[in-house]
Amino acid sequence: MALVNVMEKIVYDKLEEMLKTENCCKCERCLEDMEAIALNKLPARYVSTRNGELFSKLNATVRQSAVDINIAVSNAIACVSSKPSHE
Ligand SMILES: [Zn+2]
Repeated sequence: MALVNVMEKIVYDKLEEMLKTENCCKCERCLEDMEAIALNKLPARYVSTRNGELFSKLNATVRQSAVDINIAVSNAIACVSSKPSHE
């Protein structure tokens, strides 16, 4: 089986986009924490990479969940930047 959770890729891209305008720590550890927090709030969307429809499914997922994804990612950024797991 070759399954991919497209939500991971979507959240990663959205995080990168939003962080361009955020003045917070962007180290690997904080980025991972933000990704984890956002992904835990969002449903997993697994697709088989074998069927070649990964990107059309990804786009459909973004359209369906755009508002939820924005909220989850901005909450995750706020959460981690207010309390980073390091000094
Ligand atoms: Zn950091």
